[in-house]
Amino acid sequence: MSDAILTPPAPRNEPILSYAPGSTERATLKAALGALHDASVEIPLVIGGRHVRTGETREVTEPHAHGHALGSCHMASIAHVEQAIDASLQAGHDWSRMAFEDRASIFLKAADLLEGPWRATINAATMLGQSKTVYQAEIDAACELIDFFRFNVSYARQLLAMQPESSPGMWNRVEYRNLEGFVLAVTPFNFTSIAGNLPTAPALMGNTVVWKPSTTSVFSNWYLMQLLEAAGLPPGVINFLPGPGAQVGEVALPHRDLAGIHFTGSTGVFQTMWRTVGEHISNYKSYPRLVGETGGKDFVFAHPSADAETLAVALLRGAFEYQGQKCSAASRAYIPRSLWDQVREGLVDRLATVSMGHPADMSHFMSAVIDKASFEKCKQYIEGAKADSACSIVSGGECDDSTGWFVQPTVIETADPRAASMCEEIFGPILTVYAYDDAKLDETLELCDTTSPYALTGAIFASDRYAVRHMTDKLRHAAGNFYVNDKPTGAVVGQQPFGGARASGTNDKAGSLLNLVRWTSVRTIKETFAPPTEHGYPHMAES
Ligand code: NAD
Repeated sequence: MSDAILTPPAPRNEPILSYAPGSTERATLKAALGALHDASVEIPLVIGGRHVRTGETREVTEPHAHGHALGSCHMASIAHVEQAIDASLQAGHDWSRMAFEDRASIFLKAADLLEGPWRATINAATMLGQSKTVYQAEIDAACELIDFFRFNVSYARQLLAMQPESSPGMWNRVEYRNLEGFVLAVTPFNFTSIAGNLPTAPALMGNTVVWKPSTTSVFSNWYLMQLLEAAGLPPGVINFLPGPGAQVGEVALPHRDLAGIHFTGSTGVFQTMWRTVGEHISNYKSYPRLVGETGGKDFVFAHPSADAETLAVALLRGAFEYQGQKCSAASRAYIPRSLWDQVREGLVDRLATVSMGHPADMSHFMSAVIDKASFEKCKQYIEGAKADSACSIVSGGECDDSTGWFVQPTVIETADPRAASMCEEIFGPILTVYAYDDAKLDETLELCDTTSPYALTGAIFASDRYAVRHMTDKLRHAAGNFYVNDKPTGAVVGQQPFGGARASGTNDKAGSLLNLVRWTSVRTIKETFAPPTEHGYPHMAES
């Protein structure tokens, strides 16, 4: 450990590569896609640095070609969850005492490896395993995760430098300790970057982690785990534990040493976890920190002064990129009647040019939804809209599961602003539009604010500045990430800290200092240099 006060390299957002025909990155990526497609990998658990094969396996398939297996994944049993918790507790002693510069260097190295030699592999794994187009994989698995690693180091350094005042004769200071116990990181399928960030943010702050990846993104997540090993992460700091969520939760959640949960996924699962923690609250060594980013029903709200063309583009990108499977994806829109004909035309014309298919064919804009359950759910909402006299299908409306889980980008128009697809999270390529009476702006803003329990992202479109102010005020608590004249997706680390409130989560803003604060327990130290030698005070003198 050195006595220097160190300044880590200043972070900057990782540039997005184009993958244009003829580019080097395109050729490298194509080679990685070919190799991974044929690799037939066997994914183990990683417990205390040991690669564990449990014998209980699950096939890993491509959502866009469900007949093709990428390999198989070993699944954890209850005994493995216990072993992973023990391994993380054992690793905790050395890891929490390691100097910040050493911990930080591991994640900075991971960022550099991902920027360079690992980029194509992690992107290709995300494309094949989670059906992302190259652009969607690049902004997630490469750029956002590199940004998480680098910006978190910088934010952690800023946090460590926050120190209290000292009156004369003393030195007050705060020490940023790890949480006592282990952190359980439970990650969703839809962002490789989130899968990388949830275990590593607490680890950067000196904690050790049990990481439960999503079964439907385990392919890219396994390469991520290997990237962390290649960056020098010591055994046991992050234990990789694919397995049934409920089973992992059954052992980890009531555990006396559960120090925190770093979760992203659906609202229902997070509420179940919170409930379990509540039921066991008197068993824990410390109060577990509960950090969860959950569901959304994200909106686009247009004012009559909005520009119809930019609105149509924002709706298309905001609702349908990555098949609407971004937590931030626009899934309901409120458009003034005076604009709707023009917006609908722009949207329908553009959607007619959108193609869907295998992500290795880089001409496509979209691919398949993640699995059969998601496919069936989307189909059910589309069938429901077809059967509802208040709804009509403006575009799309067909589903095809013959080779992959393909759902056409679908626009539903409804006369009922409380129709099911206006209120409930579907998490697929379905956008429902309610064309409102221009004279009822405030009433419709109220509807938008109260229609769903969520408050993740939202966007308003207007060119009238008074309207921008008015709508921003009216929708103050309707979204944790609020956009003016932009689509509600695409938050960038370091630029738009991400997270929502209400039923959308604890709003601890991933990739920011606000998130890292949750993974440290401060000890305040007051040291007095010349302690008093008398117990009395001046007022006690007789005169
Ligand atoms: P999910 O809730 O189905 O799964 C998330 C994780 O929880 C998976 O690893 C799963 O295996 C695990 N899990 C499931 N049941 C469990 C249990 N009983 N105990 C412990 N773990 C359990 O979510 P998903 O389908 O992977 O992701 C989509 C959801 O995530 C959507 O609701 C989306 O809005 C949300 N999401 C939110 C954000 C955000 O920042 N707010 C970001 C991405 C995704």
